[in-house]
Amino acid sequence: MSCFTISAVQTVDREPAERDPGQCFWDPDVQTMPADQLHELRELRLRDMIRRVLERPVPLFARKLHEAGVTTAGDITGLADLERLPVTVKQDLRASEAEHPPIGDYRFVDLRECTRLGTSTGTTGTPTIMLWTRRDLRVEYECGARNWWRQGIRPGMIVTHAHPAYLYGGGPLLSGAYEYFGCLNIWVPPPDTDELAEQGMRMWMQVKPDIPFVGFALGRYFEVAAKLGLDPMKDVGLRIPSMPGAGGKGSPLATAGAECFAFLGGPCDEHNGAHLADDHTYVQAIDPDTGLEVPDGEWGNLVVTTFGRDNCMIRYDLEEACRVERTPCPCGETSSRGWWGGRFKDLMSSQGRKFQVAEVQAALATVPEVAEPSLEFVIVRPKDEHPPLALRVEADGGSDGDHTVTQRLAAAVRERLRLEATIELVDRGSLPRSGFKATRVVDT
Ligand SMILES: [Zn+2]
Repeated sequence: MSCFTISAVQTVDREPAERDPGQCFWDPDVQTMPADQLHELRELRLRDMIRRVLERPVPLFARKLHEAGVTTAGDITGLADLERLPVTVKQDLRASEAEHPPIGDYRFVDLRECTRLGTSTGTTGTPTIMLWTRRDLRVEYECGARNWWRQGIRPGMIVTHAHPAYLYGGGPLLSGAYEYFGCLNIWVPPPDTDELAEQGMRMWMQVKPDIPFVGFALGRYFEVAAKLGLDPMKDVGLRIPSMPGAGGKGSPLATAGAECFAFLGGPCDEHNGAHLADDHTYVQAIDPDTGLEVPDGEWGNLVVTTFGRDNCMIRYDLEEACRVERTPCPCGETSSRGWWGGRFKDLMSSQGRKFQVAEVQAALATVPEVAEPSLEFVIVRPKDEHPPLALRVEADGGSDGDHTVTQRLAAAVRERLRLEATIELVDRGSLPRSGFKATRVVDT
C-alpha cells in the first residue's frame, strides 16, 4: 500500500507497490481523499507550477500571466485565480514551435531532460511535438492505472491494442501504461493493410487477450476476418461493444490529448461521467465569450490546467465540448466528474441542426445489410443548410435493386438525427481504409 504524502510534484518510484486485487481503488489515498485535503493539494501544486513558470521562466505562459497582471507567484493563491488567465489553444503551441524551433517556448524543461518524444497526429493541422520526462510518464501511468482498475482490469491480465507507433506518441504511452500497471501488453500493428490486420488477429488466436480488442479500427478486423474465412467472434475472440450513446448526454471525458494529459479520467460502475485526475489537473467548462466557467452540468469549452508534473499546461482550451459535475458519486471517489461532447471542429450543420459523425454512424449501424461485417461510410461535408445530406455507404455489390436498403438507411437518419439524407451505395472496399481513425467526412 502506498502511503500518501502531500508534495508539489509526483515522486518517481521504480515500480508500483502490489495491491490487494479486491480493493476498490488503485490509489485509495488519492481517489477518496477528503475534499478539503484534495483542494489543498491542488492549490499547493498549482502555486508550485506558477512559481516555475515565472522563475524558470516558461516564456509563453509567463507572457500569458503578465497579460493578466500576474507578476509574482504570490499573485495566484488558488484555483479560483485561474479564471483571470487567458486560455492557450493549439494554434499558440504551433506558433511557438515555429518561432522557437524545434520545441517552442512553452516547455518547463530542456529537451535533454525529457525521456520521450512524440508528435500529435496532425489531422487538424501541423503536428506539434510532445515531450515527457520520467516524472510526466509516471503521472500518466498512475492515472491510467486508476482507469484500468475501475474497469476491472488487474495486474496479470492480458490486454491488447493497435495504436500507431514511432513518432505518434499514443502507442508507446498506452503500452507503457499497461506495462507499468502489470498487464501483459500485446501491441499489434494498426490494421492499415489486410496483412497487418491478419498479423494482429493471428497473435490473438495464439495468445488470447483477457480483454478483447476495442478500438477505432475494430470494424477493419471484422472485415479482414470475413475475407480470411474466420469468424471474428468465435475464431478471433473479438466482440462488438455497445454503441456509444449519441445525443446530448455525452461520453465520459477520458482524455485531454497526449499533449496535455492523456489519462485524464475514467468512468466508475455508476456510469456517472469520468472521475477526473483532480490531483494533477483542473478541468473547467468555460464560456468561450467570457472565459468564465459555466455552471456545473452545462456544456462549455474543455479547458485544462495541469500540475504536479514537470511539463504543465495552463488553461489549455482543447476547442472541444465538456461538462463537469462536482456532486458526490456513490462509488466513494471524491473527484469531480467530466463528460465529453465532441470536437467543435467536427461538428457539422445541415438543415438547421448540428450533428457529429458518431450520430450518423449510430443511425447507419441499425441496418444490418451495411453494418456487417463492418460499416464503412463517408459523409459529404454539407456546404450549406439545404437538404439533403449526402452519404456514401458500402454494401455488397454496391447496389440495391429495389431501393429498400437505401430507404431504410434514409429513414434511420431521419428518425435519429431529424435530417433528410440521400444515400449512395458503393461497392465493398471502394472507400479508403485506415488502421486507426477512419476519415468519415469528405469535401466532394
Ligand atoms: Zn463514481
